[in-house]
Amino acid sequence: MEISRALKRFFLWDIVCGMALTFRHMFRKPVTLQYPSERWEAPERFRGFLGLTRDFKTGEENCIGCLNCEKACPVDCITIVTAGKGREMYAREFYIDYMRCMYCGLCTEACPTTPKSIVHTHQYETPGFFRDDLVYEKERLYDVWEKEVNYRGPRPWGKLFGLRNVEAARRPKAQPAAAE
Ligand code: SF4
Ligand code: SF4
Repeated sequence: MEISRALKRFFLWDIVCGMALTFRHMFRKPVTLQYPSERWEAPERFRGFLGLTRDFKTGEENCIGCLNCEKACPVDCITIVTAGKGREMYAREFYIDYMRCMYCGLCTEACPTTPKSIVHTHQYETPGFFRDDLVYEKERLYDVWEKEVNYRGPRPWGKLFGLRNVEAARRPKAQPAAAE
């Protein structure tokens, strides 16, 4: 036992094993991505950012302001202010605090409308300089969904008609080259 341990020490066996492992990985396909030029493609059932949906044809909001999602959320990160009564009720204000959200999907399960008014998208980047940047209000939640349906590749619903292309509008226009 002692001899084998001494031999291993003499031949730096642990270092040889470590180097062999490193050498093996040099010829394998890397698992890392060169973000942001390369982006991770989320799987089909991925639960990313939540978005609010509109009717595909009329563009009207699907949400009926029933508050089911707010009640179902286990961490109280949804805040809704409703307006109107009965069939006229709608969510006048809708906030989701992404600092608390744990992407559990319970809010989408609780939503009674068909199609769902609140859905998980495949977006997962949550940048923001301030905490308030991660509290998404109603318009931004609709933007999340519009971005999903307009940009997501071969999705069942494809590219939709009549929806404004929010991301394209936001993208900075190419500046003309300054005259010398
Ligand atoms: S995904 Fe879960 S934690 Fe996030 S808003 Fe919905 S219910 Fe709340
Ligand atoms: S998103 Fe769905 S569950 Fe939430 S208030 Fe609107 S209709 Fe109700």
